[in-house]
Amino acid sequence: MASKQTKALRRQETIAERGIIALNKVSMSYQGDGAPALDDVTLRIDPGEFVFVVGDSGSGKTTLIKLLLRELVPTSGDVCVMGYNTKKLRHRQIPEFRRNIGVVFQDFRLLKDRNVYENVAFAQRIIEVPTREMKKNVPGILSMVGLAGRYRYNVTDLSGGEQQRVALARALVNKPEILLADEPTGNLDPNNAWEIMDLLEEINEQGTTVIVVTHNPEIVNAMKKRVIAMRKGIIVSDEEEGTYVNED
Ligand code: ADP
Ligand code: MG
Repeated sequence: MASKQTKALRRQETIAERGIIALNKVSMSYQGDGAPALDDVTLRIDPGEFVFVVGDSGSGKTTLIKLLLRELVPTSGDVCVMGYNTKKLRHRQIPEFRRNIGVVFQDFRLLKDRNVYENVAFAQRIIEVPTREMKKNVPGILSMVGLAGRYRYNVTDLSGGEQQRVALARALVNKPEILLADEPTGNLDPNNAWEIMDLLEEINEQGTTVIVVTHNPEIVNAMKKRVIAMRKGIIVSDEEEGTYVNED
């Protein structure tokens, strides 16, 4: 049985060789007979990249995110994230695996009966961070997202943009290696959308690998990042400094 250190070293080697995210001929079918949601997708993302994923509704973007979180395992092919093949992950390894992936959604998914501080602290309590550390980490991340003064507010009293910043703080407080954002600005006005994107860029500059699903052409075209375009479960283009690809 290899030691924990040996396994960690092997994972680092796998990441260096194959990327922090590596999909090899991945297909995902929800029903046995219908068209697959992902169809033979091969993809590599290296540590520290910022990647947009675009495509029409139903093209497989959320399915891709769920495969990366190991909410789904592929029908065929391999999904490797941070050096783990998600198919081979043992149940007891899943909490540790998920702890290293932050995630934000279009609809924020906050605890509506808790204040800002508690929503972020919750992520630390789950992994049993000592209270003393938590009392440093939570205010630190709240000030990064510009909400230091609002920690006692109930989240339902905040604007949409502020709620998404709370969700972002919660996703980041455990210092994940990867941040996945599935249409994070879908419910926001342009100003708030830009604030969230600026934060995502800042997080990326600090070393986190960031993957953002979006329908916002202005943002994609302005930011000049890698753009992966999907259509009907297939990657139809993948460009460095790409532009928004509209399939209509
Ligand atoms: P997107 O996020 O790009 O809109 P999805 O990944 O949500 O696309 O969906 C891709 C395809 O898979 C669609 O045809 C959708 O109807 C189908 N699909 C998604 N989730 C499920 C599910 N839980 N059960 C059955 N089909 C699903
Ligand atoms: Mg989706």
